[in-house]
Amino acid sequence: MKRRGVAVLGATGSIGVSTLDVLARHPERFEVLALSANSRIEQLAEQAIRFRPRMAVVSGSDDATRLRDLLSERAPEVTVGHGIDALCGAASDPSVDVVMAAIVGAAGMRPALAAAGAGKTVLLSNKGALVMAGEVFLSASRAGKATVLPIDSEHNAVFQCLPPFWHALDPQSAGQGVARIVLTASGGPFRDWSPERMAGVTPEQACAHPNWSMGRKISVDSATMMNKGLELIEAHYLFGVGPDRLEVVVHPESIIHSMVQYDDGSTLAQLGNPDMRTPIAHALGFPHRLDSGVAALSLPELGRLHFEAPDPGRFPCLGLATEALRQGGAGPCVLNAANEIAVAAFLEGRIGFMQISEVCARVLERQGHGSAGADIEAVEMLDDAARALARETIDSLD
Ligand code: NAD
Ligand code: MG
Repeated sequence: MKRRGVAVLGATGSIGVSTLDVLARHPERFEVLALSANSRIEQLAEQAIRFRPRMAVVSGSDDATRLRDLLSERAPEVTVGHGIDALCGAASDPSVDVVMAAIVGAAGMRPALAAAGAGKTVLLSNKGALVMAGEVFLSASRAGKATVLPIDSEHNAVFQCLPPFWHALDPQSAGQGVARIVLTASGGPFRDWSPERMAGVTPEQACAHPNWSMGRKISVDSATMMNKGLELIEAHYLFGVGPDRLEVVVHPESIIHSMVQYDDGSTLAQLGNPDMRTPIAHALGFPHRLDSGVAALSLPELGRLHFEAPDPGRFPCLGLATEALRQGGAGPCVLNAANEIAVAAFLEGRIGFMQISEVCARVLERQGHGSAGADIEAVEMLDDAARALARETIDSLD
């Protein structure tokens, strides 16, 4: 069997590390050909020494020099590149079959697009590509004949529960008998906190998720439930379903990862322990099943599962995302940009936890009504303008 060549973009992050863990279990199936990272150069060097990729890519030229030094004795054959062109080059390299797109935020959009345009099997973890540039990403994927497999646990669950003939890039096929898609949300660490208590939340509290271990940005997004809002937008693009057929249910144990309801009254759900190696292994092996290292679920041990409707008053970000989705056009991209800036300001201690949604609401109100960017340059301009307005809005709060 020919081994599949894999590029792991964002290798030093939470998803990247889990991906390498799964890949290391199946050396006969996969060959790691490219790794990328932004700032954790020592960690990337260790990964490169262990997995011996052909390419390792970092953001800055100084870091590339440092990485070359670190690899000079133990892995001199690794070609070190830097910058966005090298990253897109790794994502579209002819030797690469599968690209794990796990760079956080807007920085991940171009490499994901490059992989899609080059017809790769794209394991899409980065939310930015779909939320900022849904139509642009889907048309690049269609043009490149890429296979897009969702990694986000909810979308991966939905993918597993949809009819087997469903295809990521053909929304028509999802329509057949599918009544609703129900995304589950843990509700984050403040699910039952009072609004007064939530106003005083610190970055450390927001980053301590009860069920999942994740990067800081997505941990804050889980705590505000903006993460679920961005996931509604992702689901809309991935599965071709409008906001009226998308629903969120809070399920604090994070055991059911999402559900699909059919016209005949059936609801299919995907369950598992909350560990991202399951969706990663599912997508890496698809359509076959691979060992992921995740323990099997024991329902008797769990005993009970709980569900409740989300509280829109304490989690306004969810409503903002639904609003952006209904608005369409520029809405999702503007919301995503405003949220990235607001979350960064919160993590720096410049704004309070509940002000994240306030900043997003103001930016969406002022800038969310235009049309979506028709190409990547237009998307980036829209994104820049929304970021500038978010910074201005934050300054006016000080
Ligand atoms: P993380 O912060 O742990 O890792 C991010 C990775 O991106 C790192 O390797 C970092 O080096 C790289 N990176 C950051 N900025 C960069 C830049 N400017 N240029 C190039 N590389 C850069 O994040 P994560 O939790 O692994 O999440 C990655 C993506 O997957 C996010 O879009 C997130 O929303 C999504 N996701 C994560 C989880 C999870 O459980 N962690 C679940 C679902 C979806
Ligand atoms: Mg998720």
